[in-house]
Amino acid sequence: MWADNRAVVRQPAGGGGLGDGRLAATPPAGAHLYVHVPFCDGKCLYCGFYSGMADTAQRQVYASLPGQEWQVTAAVAGVASWGAPRTLYFGGGTPAMLGVPGLQALVDGLRAQVSLAAVAEWTVELNPASVTPALLQALRAWGVNRVSIGAQSLDDEVLRFLGRRHTAQAVIEAVAMARAAGFANMGLDLIAAVPGVSLAAWRATLAAAVALELPHLSVYALSMEAQTPLAQGVAAGHVAMPDEEAQLAALALTEELLGAAGLVRYEISNYARPGCECQHNLACWRGEDYLGLGPSASSRAGLQRWTNQADLTAYQHDLQGGRPPPREAEELDPAADAVERFVFGVRLHEGVDPVAFACRYPAARPRLNEWLATLARLAQQGVMARTAAGGWQLTAHGREVADAVVAELL
Ligand code: SF4
Repeated sequence: MWADNRAVVRQPAGGGGLGDGRLAATPPAGAHLYVHVPFCDGKCLYCGFYSGMADTAQRQVYASLPGQEWQVTAAVAGVASWGAPRTLYFGGGTPAMLGVPGLQALVDGLRAQVSLAAVAEWTVELNPASVTPALLQALRAWGVNRVSIGAQSLDDEVLRFLGRRHTAQAVIEAVAMARAAGFANMGLDLIAAVPGVSLAAWRATLAAAVALELPHLSVYALSMEAQTPLAQGVAAGHVAMPDEEAQLAALALTEELLGAAGLVRYEISNYARPGCECQHNLACWRGEDYLGLGPSASSRAGLQRWTNQADLTAYQHDLQGGRPPPREAEELDPAADAVERFVFGVRLHEGVDPVAFACRYPAARPRLNEWLATLARLAQQGVMARTAAGGWQLTAHGREVADAVVAELL
C-alpha cells in the first residue's frame, strides 16, 4: 500500500512540549488532511506501520472517530479556522477494511465537521485483495478522484515472500476495475531490492508495471523496520538483505525503465506523468502544513508538530470522553522549523531555491549563506546541480546519496 513505505509523510514524534493534547497551532491557509485506518487482514513481513486485525464491531466504532478527532482538535486548537482541506488522503492499514458502510460513516463523520467541497485531490489507498466494483463506485460517489494501489510486486513468488495476501493477477484486475469505474488518476506502489530477487526478475516486474500504463508509480527499496518478521529473519540468519550495490542497481534500473516510459522521477521514490504527481504528498514535501487523524498519524501546523500515540484503545477511549487522543507534541523554534521545511524540498525534482525560501521563511535567513556555500560544494562533488529556474536539485548521483546530502544541509 502507499503507506507501506512512507509515501505519506509522517513526522517522527517529538519529545516534551504540549504532551497534554494542547496544540498552539498557527493556522495554515487550507489544510491537507490525512486519515489513518489502522486495520489490515494480516501483517506483511516487512510492515512497521500501525495496523492490526479487528472485528467488525471495532471497525464500526472506529469509523466515526476521525471526525470526532477533528472536532476536539478544532475545539482545542482552532483547527476549524484552517479552512477547508485542499487534499484528502485515506491511508493505513487498509481503508477498505472498514467496508463501504464503515467508509460511508467515516466520510459522514468528517463532513459533519468540515466541508470537503474544496478538496481538489482525494486519494484512497487500495489493497488489490479488497477492490470490488461496489467499493469503487462508492468512492466515486463520495468524490474520491485518485486511488493508490498497493501492489508491491507483480511476481507471485515475491508477493508470497513479502507476506502479501494477493496475487499479481489481483493487481492487474484491480487496475482494470478502477479504470472501468472511471479512475484515471491512479498510482501503484512497488518494493525494490527484495532479498533473492535478481535484477532480471526486477526488470520483469517493472516491465509488467509499465505495461499497465499508469500515470503514477512509487518505488521504494525494502527497508528493515525493527521488530518486524523481516528483521527477525535477518537477525536469525534466515534472510539476507541485498547489499548497497544491489540496492542502487535496482533503483538505477527503475529510473532507467520508468524514465523511458515517460514517467518523471519527481521525488526520490515517486514517478509520474507530468501533471499526475500526488498533490497531497507534494504539499507535505514542499513544507506545507497538514493534519493527520487516527492513531499514529502525525501533523504539522506552523511551529507545531504532533503525533498521535499508536494505540487504538487509548485513541477511542479519549475521543469518546471528548478529549484529544494521547499525543506526543513539540514546538519547534522558527529556525528549526525553517530548516526542516527546506530539507524536505531537496528530495523533489523541482528542487529548492534557498533565496526564495529565505524570503518566505525569514527564520532561514541566518542559514542562507551557509546553505549557498554548501550547495556550491555539493555541486563540485556532482550531487547537486542548478535548475533552469535558478534553484538547486539533486543530480542522478545525488539521488543515490540523498540522505547524506540532506545531512550536509542540516
Ligand atoms: S497491507 Fe501490509 S504493509 Fe500495508 S499496512 Fe497492512 S500489514 Fe502493513
